[in-house]
Amino acid sequence: MTDVFGDLVGQDEAVAVLRRAAASAAALLRAPVTAPAGGRDDLDALAEEHDDDPAPAPADPGAGMTHAWIFTGPPGSGRSVAARAFAAALECVHGTGCGSCPGCHTTLTGTHADVRLVVPEGLSIGVNEMRALVLRAASAPSGGRWQIVIIEDADRLTEAAGNALLKAIEEPPPRTVFLLCAPSTHPDDISVTIRSRCRVVPLRQPPPAAVAEVLVRRDGIAPDVAEWAAAAAQGHVGRARRLARDPEARQRRDAVLAVPRRLTGVGAAFDAASALIEAAEAEAAASVAEIDEAERTALQTALGAGGTGRGAAGAMRGAAGQLKDLEKRQKSRATRAQRDALDRALVDLAGFYRDAIVMALRAPVAPVHTDTASLAGAGAQKWDAEGSLRRLEAVLECRAAIEANVKPRIAVEAMMLTLWRG
Ligand SMILES: [Zn+2]
Repeated sequence: MTDVFGDLVGQDEAVAVLRRAAASAAALLRAPVTAPAGGRDDLDALAEEHDDDPAPAPADPGAGMTHAWIFTGPPGSGRSVAARAFAAALECVHGTGCGSCPGCHTTLTGTHADVRLVVPEGLSIGVNEMRALVLRAASAPSGGRWQIVIIEDADRLTEAAGNALLKAIEEPPPRTVFLLCAPSTHPDDISVTIRSRCRVVPLRQPPPAAVAEVLVRRDGIAPDVAEWAAAAAQGHVGRARRLARDPEARQRRDAVLAVPRRLTGVGAAFDAASALIEAAEAEAAASVAEIDEAERTALQTALGAGGTGRGAAGAMRGAAGQLKDLEKRQKSRATRAQRDALDRALVDLAGFYRDAIVMALRAPVAPVHTDTASLAGAGAQKWDAEGSLRRLEAVLECRAAIEANVKPRIAVEAMMLTLWRG
């Protein structure tokens, strides 16, 4: 039986930091601090205790507990897994994150009354949502331990939402903990003022061997499949799991990796761009269709569609507004899903050209895509390291352009032309 940190693949340093913090948080709850009057809260008192205590190195950033944390790392490194595991350890009745007590269990399954998880569905988290959240997080924890707010993709906060959050982080209620997840602490991802109030837990891209190990141990996937999927997913645990299990995900990847072979002229380059965009749209549509339909049905039921009693006409007018809101949210979510699908395809493609560079340089490094290694080898001969690098850069530029809101079709067409011409 592993504890709550068992799924954090290849993140030994971060796990050590979080274990120490959970232990000091538990100590804090066990031994009520006799704080002098004057508005000091539990955590300040704890921090001071640490300052007085010469035993642990005072410069150790991992010691002790604090109100606000940022988990950073590349996609798939497990930012939200880490945040949830830490939340479970804080709510654990043993204070360790044992993985089997009610506190751990309800936190991990998303039903703990004091743990709130914000997962942005659209492109950003709005100010109203954030204000409501901050307000609720200020109440005393019903379970007697901690009020925890986990914000996935904190880089998608609007500026106003970020300011609402900052206010809460600056004057935190004594038992409230904020756990933010973001790709990095770059000012584009998280404001400097929020960053300055948080402790940062950097996660690294887990090595393929560690990813393969967890696929075998936890998901019961055959070792050879796990190894292939872990390498092909380039350290993204969720992606590796999908590739190992989902034939459709494998087919989509095959189609993407067939692109370099198909680029035989200008027309073929535009065809390949269309195919890539349309595949991303189809994948995104399939991924949101079920939940869209469920939301529409739920809303219609809640609004009592088809009612004829008194007030039904007024209710219908309000209903139209609510349906419009829902459609707006769903459209925003669909856009996000399309971008995510396209980004996965670009990451696969980048892996291919990276393999070509490795082979052109005869570097003693394992290929990302073992199943297209011979194709990458042929590319390496034709383009040499320099031409392969230009193509890899074209893929990375396309990602950056889409992130900067260039229309995906335009960015992908430009990329395909460079991939063909070099
Ligand atoms: Zn527990």
